[in-house]
Amino acid sequence: MERQEIMRRFAEAAGNPLSYARAWKERTGRKVIGSFPMNFPGELAHAAGALPMILQETDDPITAGHGVLFPFYCGFTRSMVDQAMRGEFDVLDAIMFGDHCVQLLGAADGIRMHLTKTRVIFFQLISSMCDPWTQGRSEESFAKLRAELEDFIGEAVADDAMHASIRLFNRNRALIRKLYDMRKKGTAPLGAIEMQHVVKSSMIMDKAEHTDLLQQLVAQFEGAKATPNRAVRLHLSGHFCQAPKPELLEMIEECGVVVVGDDLYHGFRYISTDVPEEGPPVSALARWYMDRNTGVPCPTRVQNNVDWDAYLLDAIRDERADGMIVLMAKFCEPHMYYYPEVKEAFEKAGVPHLLIETEHEGMALESLKTRVETFVEIVKRREAA
Ligand code: SF4
Repeated sequence: MERQEIMRRFAEAAGNPLSYARAWKERTGRKVIGSFPMNFPGELAHAAGALPMILQETDDPITAGHGVLFPFYCGFTRSMVDQAMRGEFDVLDAIMFGDHCVQLLGAADGIRMHLTKTRVIFFQLISSMCDPWTQGRSEESFAKLRAELEDFIGEAVADDAMHASIRLFNRNRALIRKLYDMRKKGTAPLGAIEMQHVVKSSMIMDKAEHTDLLQQLVAQFEGAKATPNRAVRLHLSGHFCQAPKPELLEMIEECGVVVVGDDLYHGFRYISTDVPEEGPPVSALARWYMDRNTGVPCPTRVQNNVDWDAYLLDAIRDERADGMIVLMAKFCEPHMYYYPEVKEAFEKAGVPHLLIETEHEGMALESLKTRVETFVEIVKRREAA
């Protein structure tokens, strides 16, 4: 299949996740299980024969949801509740929530109250990542999640099925990581929006279908020569639960920027870590949960021997990036708490960065553009000096 057609299919699923799920359900007659970011293992629902999909923020203005969540909740949680209140989640047979922040818990309660016919499966994950009991407690959580899922579908999820799903998901992640690597080297000239479509569609589409398209896409870049690009190389950081708006990414690139890496959830964070393929699957999922925080540290978790700021400085060196743009969703508490450490570390290391606060309700792109242009100019002058 042509590259344009593959990208069109990724963009279509990324742009209309619930329509994709409805069509899939109609075609297969199987269940669709929605989940909240960032720690739900889709492998479990896949092994149970369902379509696991990570629920996505939409651009729609918040209307019905206003009465349920405070306006100072992040855009992602307000959008989730609003979609639930407007009946958009009718395609979902179940929703699985993990508890990675207080606002997410509020949204889970709001949805639970209003979607009385949808099975809501809630699981709690230990957030302290380096204690001697962390692995054991994570295993308990994933075992409980598996038991609840089995209760919901009415049959056991076999270990063999879980191993097969783990292998397929790992293959999918590995292919996306390969694209990241090719982009870093300049042999896969994928823009930030295209990269987002690749990752976001992987959160939504049938994994086998997505992997097949990915394989074809990667093959088209294999052996390609690096395209010289004189734009300023930047890393994009932040945005945990929601995809940055495409118009924002477009504006950043229009300012003479090439994005060479990211740690966005709708980016490298989602595919950074594989699940071990050997051993009991529940232990493997617990291992994956813990390894992810070493792979790409998350400010919603606590780990004394891991620093997000140190990870970011390493990533920038590895990507040969000239600086970083931080995208912070308005009212995202975990990000707000951690950002001062990132700022301090970057200032100390002399690596330029720019903070942009993003909003669900829309952003003044023109004034943001002036800030990005100024930042790009500063980075260029620093490089020249
Ligand atoms: S981590 Fe941030 S973006 Fe995600 S639900 Fe919590 S506050 Fe919202």
